[in-house]
Formats: sequence, structure tokens, C-alpha cells
Amino acid sequence: MELLVLGCSGSACGPESAASSYLVRHDGFGLLLDFGPGAFGALHRWADPTLVDAIALSHLHPDHCLDLCAWNVGAQYSPTAPWPVVPVYGPAGTAERLARAYEPEPGGQSPWRCEFRTWAGSQQIGPFTVRTAAVPHSAEAYAIRVEAAGHSLTYSGDTGPSTALVDLAHGTDLLLAEASFTHAEDLPAGIHLSARQAAEHAAAAGAGQLVLTHIPLWQDPQAQAAEAAPHFAGPQQLARPGLRIDIA
Ligand SMILES: [Zn+2]
Ligand SMILES: [Zn+2]
Repeated sequence: MELLVLGCSGSACGPESAASSYLVRHDGFGLLLDFGPGAFGALHRWADPTLVDAIALSHLHPDHCLDLCAWNVGAQYSPTAPWPVVPVYGPAGTAERLARAYEPEPGGQSPWRCEFRTWAGSQQIGPFTVRTAAVPHSAEAYAIRVEAAGHSLTYSGDTGPSTALVDLAHGTDLLLAEASFTHAEDLPAGIHLSARQAAEHAAAAGAGQLVLTHIPLWQDPQAQAAEAAPHFAGPQQLARPGLRIDIA
């Protein structure tokens, strides 16, 4: 199983990275985790849109889903269109939410080259067993664990401190964890993790390695890495566009 980071800028597209988007591949099947602004372009730079066989949305904040609209334009109007219809997994109401962004003709045919499906606790997506856990955030949000061939990756999505995330990530090979905040004792509850908290979640879950992501462009990534470092003993690094990790 391979993780390819397409975008890792937190809360918005940054000057050097798209917003959240990660391609997980195994056995020729590509599962895209989140599709934030700028990720459709990054998909062309680092991979190929035809490598996406399914799309999974952790939640419906704009920085995690809006480039589904860009993808859909490519799927219908690019020289290689029409692209195969792909499933899009997300919270309840994903189709209605994305329709408002895409603004199809009232009463017209569905404009989507995808089928919307609501998250279940566990589902098979191609070669992947994919489990979700609801996590605390300012919208309905899920952490996502992807398993294949005895290996696993767990993506926090956007979350505040969460025992559900620790449980979902138990023994995972790689925890891809958001680190939006600089640590403080009076952080707003149930919104995001600090870099220290991301590392503490990796340690509590017994993760094999930690990748810090979703660092907003107004934060210093090196400071976030330094904050996390003492709190997780395993290998850890910052996500960056084009980063590939073979999870084996
Ligand atoms: Zn976000
Ligand atoms: Zn969010």
C-alpha cells in the first residue's frame, strides 16, 4: 500500500500546497482521501486523475471536498472524458452539499460522474477494508482507517482530541494526523489537534509512524514538527506535496 500526499495545507490552499488530499494505492486501485482546493491540479502533477477509483471525504468543510467539482469538470469535458463513474463516500448529505457548490441546472439530470454513498462503520472499497469513526469537530467528521494486505493507514481528518481516533488507529502502521494548532492548555475544545496532541494520539494508538498534516499556512511547519517530536518515539515527519510512503 502506498500513500501519496497531494495536498496537506490546513484549512485552505497554501502557496506551496493544495488543501487536504491523499491518494492511497494498492493492487492498481486508487482511493483518494479528501479533495481540497488545488488537489485536482496536484493530482495531475504527482499522479493521474485516471488512477482515482474511489473518493472518500472525511467531512464537508470546503478545504476537504471542493475540488470534487473540479474533478467532475475533467470527468465530463477533458479530452479523455467521460471518465468512469466512481463512488464518493462521505457524511450524510454529501450529494446535496456538493450540488450546492456545483450548481446543477434545477430539474436537470445528475451532472455527476460519481455515485454518492453515505459512510458506514465498515465497508469494502476495492481492495481496501475501510473503517470510520466519528470524531469531534465543528461539523460531522470522520477519521478513516484503510487496510489492505495486512497493513493499514489511519487518517485523522479534522478532529479535536479523540479516544475514538485512538481506538480506530490502534496498532496502525501509519497515522496521518492533523496538527492545526500550536499547543496551549486553553485550546478551543473539539475542533483541531495541536502538534503535541497529534503525537500523543500516535503514541496512545501504538502507531508505527506519524505523518503530521493539515498545518495551516499561517503556522510554521518546522515549529509544529519540533513541538510533536518529544511526544512520539517512532518515526515522524511532515507531510509535503509529492511525498510517497510505501506502507509495508
Ligand atoms: Zn480542514
Ligand atoms: Zn474541518
